[in-house]
Amino acid sequence: MELRRTDCELRRIVIVGGGVAGVSTAAALRSGGYDGELTLVDAGEFPYDRPPLSKDFLTGVKDLTDLALQPPDWYDAQSIRLLAKTMVAAIQPSSGTVELAGGKVLQADRVVLATGGGAARPPIPGLDDHRVHVLRTAEDAERLRSALVPGARLLVVGAGLIGAETAATAAGLGCDVVLVDPVSPPLTAAVGPLMASWLHEMHTRRGVTTVQATVEAFSAHSHGLAAQLSGEDAPRVFDAVVLGVGMTPSTGLAEAAGLECDGGIVVDAGQTTSHPAVLAVGDPTRRRVNGLLMRRAEHWEAAQYDGKRAAATLLGATVPRPAAFWFWTDRHGVHVEVVGEMAKATSAVVRGEPAEGGRFSVFGLLDGRVVAAAAVDDSAAVRAARRMIDRGVPADAGALADPATDLRALLRRRPEPTAAAVP
Ligand SMILES: Cc1cc2nc3c(=O)[nH]c(=O)nc-3n(C[C@H](O)[C@H](O)[C@H](O)COP(=O)(O)OP(=O)(O)OC[C@H]3O[C@@H](n4cnc5c(N)ncnc54)[C@H](O)[C@@H]3O)c2cc1C
Repeated sequence: MELRRTDCELRRIVIVGGGVAGVSTAAALRSGGYDGELTLVDAGEFPYDRPPLSKDFLTGVKDLTDLALQPPDWYDAQSIRLLAKTMVAAIQPSSGTVELAGGKVLQADRVVLATGGGAARPPIPGLDDHRVHVLRTAEDAERLRSALVPGARLLVVGAGLIGAETAATAAGLGCDVVLVDPVSPPLTAAVGPLMASWLHEMHTRRGVTTVQATVEAFSAHSHGLAAQLSGEDAPRVFDAVVLGVGMTPSTGLAEAAGLECDGGIVVDAGQTTSHPAVLAVGDPTRRRVNGLLMRRAEHWEAAQYDGKRAAATLLGATVPRPAAFWFWTDRHGVHVEVVGEMAKATSAVVRGEPAEGGRFSVFGLLDGRVVAAAAVDDSAAVRAARRMIDRGVPADAGALADPATDLRALLRRRPEPTAAAVP
């Protein structure tokens, strides 16, 4: 990343939020040559990573220090002023000020909002019971961990990525888990129907009870917390409940500053908001591409790439093109990776045998090209699919389906002239 002369006028940048998006913005600014003041403000103990919260942190295999996004001495070494355990109360883009809770004011030539989001809480009666958990922060995970004792009756509401991982982790810890979701199979839009069914049925094979229903109400019961599920005559009783029903983007600072928000902070391809002095990155953002608002990515890698794009914008460097979405999820001992947009695919090719203990992948095709892939324990297939998507190479369904085909060889096919990456 090359620093252009004009951008040397930037001397003070404040990043609000120390998740992967905020920290990657800071890292990319420094590696790109920015040598002005750089302040990272975060409400948490220190900047840490979230994916392990539903995996190794929840089981107790990892502790909070293992989750640090950077070693403690990295911030000093990079001349980054880290203000941890500090909330930003307001930003005033026109005057270039960032107001901290407590009243202190920082001056900034540019502000990067990397505020992430909170766990969504649907309006279910009885939700404020102390046995109802969410999972977004280390504190949430610590509190939940103490409830996941062997034999505990756990209701997981929502079988999306976080709900499914939590159900799997809790089952592995010996809990008696019920996983409820109104959609069957869940995650079809993200991974396609075949993979979605296979993954959801895996819960049953691993002792998790899956129920297709919604939760209508929670109420206190002499033996625990009662949950009334739709279509059932009597409530079921649990020791604890986890909500995994999505994320609410933290747009409060942006909205109060008058920035355009629409289900997220609206940004352009370079992560700039509707105010030129404010950029936004990570989970709370929605990119506008050719006049259309993209959905929020809400994945780790997308947040990291956002940081690199924001840094490029601030440095006046070429902004990297948005890559096809990629995410991973781990459950019941299998590793799943997904790239691209499966919902766009009109046909699918299965490679390998969908069976316990084996690896297989599903490629989603549209107009003769790969637009998505989802794989169980086969990172190489997803890596190859990603390059096929980015290069727009024509897909050979027969060759893709044959596990003996070297996928790298398929990458050498000539790209189509109109090929474009999935935004
Ligand atoms: C339990 C869990 C498991 C996940 N597993 C996976 C996975 O397996 N694969 C995957 O691809 N993705 C996963 N994700 C998603 C991934 O972690 C997120 O996409 C990523 O953390 C987004 O990073 P971010 O920096 O945008 O936001 P966040 O990580 O939410 O960071 C935002 C930070 O901003 C701070 N903040 C907010 N407002 C203020 C303020 N006013 N002042 C100061 N600080 C503020 C917050 O304290 C927080 O530290 C998971 C998420 C969770 C919660």
